[in-house]
Amino acid sequence: MTILPVIPISPDQPDAVSTRRRPSMPPRHLADLDLAGRKAAVAGLGEPAFRAKQLSTHYFGRLVRDAAEMTDLPSATRDKLTTELLPTLLTPIREQACDDGATRKTLWRLHDGALVESVLMGYPDRITACVSSQAGCGMACPFCATGQQGLTRNLSVAEIVDQVVYLAGVAASGAVTGSPPRLSRVVFMGMGEPLANYPRVIEAVRRLIAPAPEGLGLSQRHITVSTVGLVPAMRRLIAEQLSVTLALSLHAPDDDLRDELVPVNQRWKVAEVLDAAFDYAAQTGRRVSIEYALIRDVNDQPWRADLLGRLLHGKLAHVNLIPLNPTPGSKWDASPKPVEREFVRRLREAGVATTVRDTRGREIDGACGQLAAGELTQAGAGAVAADAEVAQ
Ligand code: SAH
Repeated sequence: MTILPVIPISPDQPDAVSTRRRPSMPPRHLADLDLAGRKAAVAGLGEPAFRAKQLSTHYFGRLVRDAAEMTDLPSATRDKLTTELLPTLLTPIREQACDDGATRKTLWRLHDGALVESVLMGYPDRITACVSSQAGCGMACPFCATGQQGLTRNLSVAEIVDQVVYLAGVAASGAVTGSPPRLSRVVFMGMGEPLANYPRVIEAVRRLIAPAPEGLGLSQRHITVSTVGLVPAMRRLIAEQLSVTLALSLHAPDDDLRDELVPVNQRWKVAEVLDAAFDYAAQTGRRVSIEYALIRDVNDQPWRADLLGRLLHGKLAHVNLIPLNPTPGSKWDASPKPVEREFVRRLREAGVATTVRDTRGREIDGACGQLAAGELTQAGAGAVAADAEVAQ
């Protein structure tokens, strides 16, 4: 592994990690508000409405997150607007790079001491940001590090958006060698269950797709929301008339096993969750991505591939197989390559488009959940022996 020099960040603050305060939502930030809301907020501070656009252009258009760099604002105004609309939401406490600088992971401390992480992945034709939607996660999937931590709290809209704006700034700086400088994709595959933080995630998506200066101007189809399968929230998403890509973390085609691997299956069964996913695909005209972490001797049997093939045959869906990122202390491991190949072969034979996800960032615990989990362990806030994988 080559750890490359990374962009400068503020020094480690070990006490900030161990000082765990009561979870609480952060102060308001401009990314919490749409343009009209920002205008109203600015007016409420006794400033002319055009300042809202000026601030927005800095933040969303130029990816400037620090008011000190907004030198066209008079300093008194700048101070006032900073306090009221640009509070620091994310403090970087660790940043690592691997894959020759093409993968970068940032561990953030939030205002209440909670930890979350984001990953930036560069490819020759695109750059993808993998962001967190919650601190911790309440879904308790046994193979996922974040799932072992439990839920600390939901992230605010701005805490989600600010991860993306930060990563877009890193991309724009040219730090990801061999990739275009523009961040083009966002996947909600970091810590947390996005649909369990539904209104804030949807609002964050709206901010990501709104054209600058209201938002970042990303294409909807380049945004992927990944879910364990919270059926009522999936149905709500269908009604939003958005066309973001939906990923469903299925991991097993049968209820017996899925009840164990994705405990929320005890509430919403495979058939029900697939129905909701297919309805989303029908509504948007976009294929849903069926995520399936291949776990040796657990869910990788040929009969399960065949069953999955039957469930998905003829549907607007494709399968994204994820080699399990084996977790220290866990009894589970990734499937051997020949088993993986046979699984792929059977799915394709059933007419189901299937890809195997790359395993970016493993060398830097690139898997979402793992770095924050390590910090929590060091801080004595709970030993976590599992791991989670980051998506592309
Ligand atoms: N809660 C959402 C998003 C979080 S994680 C969801 O479950 O979809 C993104 C993906 O990584 C999910 O498909 C998740 O099941 C998968 N994942 C978690 N831990 C993993 C591991 N150890 N190895 C491989 N994939 C893992």
